[in-house]
Amino acid sequence: MTRSPVWHPFTQHALEPAMKRIARTEGAYLYDEQGRAILDAISSWWVITHGHRHPLIMDAIRRAPGLYDQIIFAEYTHEPAEELARGLVAIAPAGLDHVFYSDSGSTCVEVALKMAFGFFHNSGAPRSRIVVMEHGYHGDTIGTMSAGERGVFNAAYEPMLYGVDQLPFPSPGHEQDTLDAFETYCRSGQVAALLIEPLVLGAGGMRMYPASLLTELKRLAERHGSLMIADEVMTGWGRTGTLFACEQANITPDILCTSKGLTGGSLPLAATLCSAKIFDAHLSSDRSRTFFHSSSYTANPIACAAALANLEVWKTEPVAARIHSLESMHRTRLERFKEDPRFGNVRQTGTIVALDVNVPTSGYLSDAGPKLRSFFRARNLLIRPLGNVIYLMTPYCVTADDLDRTYDAIDEAADLFAGAR
Ligand SMILES: *Cc1c(COP(=O)(O)O)cnc(C)c1O
Repeated sequence: MTRSPVWHPFTQHALEPAMKRIARTEGAYLYDEQGRAILDAISSWWVITHGHRHPLIMDAIRRAPGLYDQIIFAEYTHEPAEELARGLVAIAPAGLDHVFYSDSGSTCVEVALKMAFGFFHNSGAPRSRIVVMEHGYHGDTIGTMSAGERGVFNAAYEPMLYGVDQLPFPSPGHEQDTLDAFETYCRSGQVAALLIEPLVLGAGGMRMYPASLLTELKRLAERHGSLMIADEVMTGWGRTGTLFACEQANITPDILCTSKGLTGGSLPLAATLCSAKIFDAHLSSDRSRTFFHSSSYTANPIACAAALANLEVWKTEPVAARIHSLESMHRTRLERFKEDPRFGNVRQTGTIVALDVNVPTSGYLSDAGPKLRSFFRARNLLIRPLGNVIYLMTPYCVTADDLDRTYDAIDEAADLFAGAR
């Protein structure tokens, strides 16, 4: 077979077997060309919420091109974008009154950072610093890489990255250190915003921290006039048990980023929601105060129609009940690993579960990751451990039987390293 010209993301082509083709998707499954059903236990990189090809969402996507394709969004508006914006404002934490569209998780975070800097610039008191949390991940564009954890992923690009101030991750018992570090940075008067993944740091290893810490961080930010940007790209749309993770901390961030589950995972779309004070700081007869950001496909009407259908699914189906039942299915199954010496740090926030496999060398590049991945692959399970961290983030339609099979496989997988311990 001739070599494919396709260059895949996060893929070392010299080490990976040829890419298997997926011919079809349905519910919690991907089907390959041989008709094998592969359980999508990571929701195709965290985007698919209800399940693949949800009928309501697929119908909306089919209908939309009868009316429109792409429409320039600087000159005109359209019904799907208007209705979606009203819908998002209605369900987001109270006080987020404006919606700026873009097309990916990375771009909606970039937009948030620019809004924050624009706010202080236009208010006549520019600020220069962004504070982030250790092990954070906010995307793969230059700006979001700068704000994310530095490591092997971005070593080559280091000269392009700007500096940020980093808070230590609040490991149990060390929450106060995180708060103290934030307060110290804030005292400089230069902190424009704290950019943070609420409750769960995803790509940084599914690290979880309590909602009370988020509440405290917001309180400190307010006291020092700094903004809080909640990167809910992964945590949004029910993953942590509530529609948005911020709800559990009873806070309204100044800016909220959402993407992945916004269209139920069907089409690329993102939105950055912000409070009136941020919008108003850009509102002026002086054109230099305009919010200077756009991408070609801003508010693509077909993607907006898909997102509207997703809102409809949330309104008309028992999504919250499904999420709670998935939460408890995980909780009972996870129990068996709590005292198991082969695992550590068994954890859960809502529908996201993770556990560390005790291996001789951990970290993203430890060979535990690829070993585990091929083990699961051989069992028709799509699970991509982050180094030695196994996590599950399934679509909400996954069944108890699917989970039983998955947990049995995790149990077996840990024995891969039995000799090495
Ligand atoms: C995935 C992710 C992003 C980036 O989203 P893309 O659509 O891949 O650009 C940003 N922030 C968080 C928390 C994410 O999980």
